[in-house]
Amino acid sequence: MIYDAVIVGSGFSAIATVCNLVELLPQSASVAVIGDDPGFGRGTAYRTELYLHRLNVPAGRMSLFPDRPNAFVDWLREHKRPLDAGDFASRQDYGLYIRDSLAALLRNKKPRCRVDFIKAKATGCVERYGGALGFQLDNGNEIAGRSIVLCLGVGNATLPVDLSQLSADARAHIVENPWRLSWLRRVQTGDSVCILGSGLTMIDQALALFAHGFTGHVTVLSRRGLVPLAHVSHPKPPLEIDVGALPTQLSELLHVFRHESRHGDDWRRLMDGLRPQTQALWSRLPDAERRRFLRHALPWWNIHRHRVAPDVFLRFDGMIQSGQISVRAGYLLDVEGARPLTLRYRPRGKKLVTSIQADWIVNCTGMERAGIAHSPLLQEMRRQGLIEADPLGLGIVVDKQSRIPRSEGTDTVIYAVGALTAGQFWEITAVPDIRIQARSVAQAIAGKV
Ligand SMILES: Cc1cc2nc3c(=O)[nH]c(=O)nc-3n(C[C@H](O)[C@H](O)[C@H](O)COP(=O)(O)OP(=O)(O)OC[C@H]3O[C@@H](n4cnc5c(N)ncnc54)[C@H](O)[C@@H]3O)c2cc1C
Repeated sequence: MIYDAVIVGSGFSAIATVCNLVELLPQSASVAVIGDDPGFGRGTAYRTELYLHRLNVPAGRMSLFPDRPNAFVDWLREHKRPLDAGDFASRQDYGLYIRDSLAALLRNKKPRCRVDFIKAKATGCVERYGGALGFQLDNGNEIAGRSIVLCLGVGNATLPVDLSQLSADARAHIVENPWRLSWLRRVQTGDSVCILGSGLTMIDQALALFAHGFTGHVTVLSRRGLVPLAHVSHPKPPLEIDVGALPTQLSELLHVFRHESRHGDDWRRLMDGLRPQTQALWSRLPDAERRRFLRHALPWWNIHRHRVAPDVFLRFDGMIQSGQISVRAGYLLDVEGARPLTLRYRPRGKKLVTSIQADWIVNCTGMERAGIAHSPLLQEMRRQGLIEADPLGLGIVVDKQSRIPRSEGTDTVIYAVGALTAGQFWEITAVPDIRIQARSVAQAIAGKV
């Protein structure tokens, strides 16, 4: 059979797209969702079982549907976890909310389209006659559709050094993918741990480690040693920003931002004012300025834009003050030796080389960029000329409707939703943006069926 829509992926982007399709498609239509994740809808972000892993967006902005902004806050109340719209819920609860929302839509007595969930990994694809694209699955089957939505998320970045010379025992103490939380159980309480990368993933992993009874020391190493800043419990209103009046040269833009944040009462007002307009701002920047932004301003953007809940920040900061965690800025050169492993690095702004000794190395460097190297499926699609990598390394090329440009005469329309479209939109990694994109892609598909 050929489905009207095939969605590849099983995280938030996929489920947001399915939920919208269920609302918009006629009863005669059919949708297949191909996902290799044990919990449809959770993805990496909402699979965690640790309560202290919290959302970094207030609950009032995390509804699955932009036109029903209170849906998540209502769900929390119904499930006896009453929080205000400005509070930061646990990511575990958010995963349950997504699962429940999907289940409620599918159980609804109203006639709806057919939806099949296929638990498998898509490994390749092939154009079929009749205007369909078929996906080969790792279980040997093939699923074909007329409209395709790629919701593959982003991969974990690999460590920036060669580990091939290390012994098997040493390599067993390097955690390449920290989202497999089982590594926490292997660490002895008094071990020393070096976390590479100092963003949100690092904070998550450090808190999880200490919550498991860890009493040793954590050294954090990243190029600039910048850690995410905090939300405040009672934020001031966002600044009103006229994006059309902003300069499009990065240096001038940063000058305006610095001036605003130095002379205003709280820099968060600037960031919160920019937040809903970032896509418009990005679309105005010429390619050279986008490159400049990625090369020079990204670490500062990340710590101001991707902030942590106030109490999470307090807890993390307390660990720094008490000496349980120390943060260093420098370039990692190599890793050698057996346990303890030796990480040689050059401190930022210095010529001399120094080192850190650690029983464990945890890779928290990834996820902020959306390349395609992590995905054999995307690489195969690129080989076949079905997709093109974004020139800045931000996912794949899509147009403003999230459609992948296709050659004349091809009937199948391929869309992408989520971080894979960061080259076109930049600000497309979090729920408030993805839910809007998922809605508009679903509307476009429904218009064709
Ligand atoms: C730790 C963390 C915390 C976050 N916190 C927040 C937050 O508080 N608020 C917020 O708005 N955003 C947050 N985000 C951003 C988050 O990425 C998005 O909210 C959203 O979860 C992205 O979903 P996605 O479906 O695009 O990607 P993912 O969640 O990565 O899902 C992609 C899915 O596709 C599957 N897949 C990949 N390739 C294939 C294939 N070939 N075949 C089949 N399936 C495949 C994967 O297994 C995965 O399940 C967070 C992200 C992380 C990593």
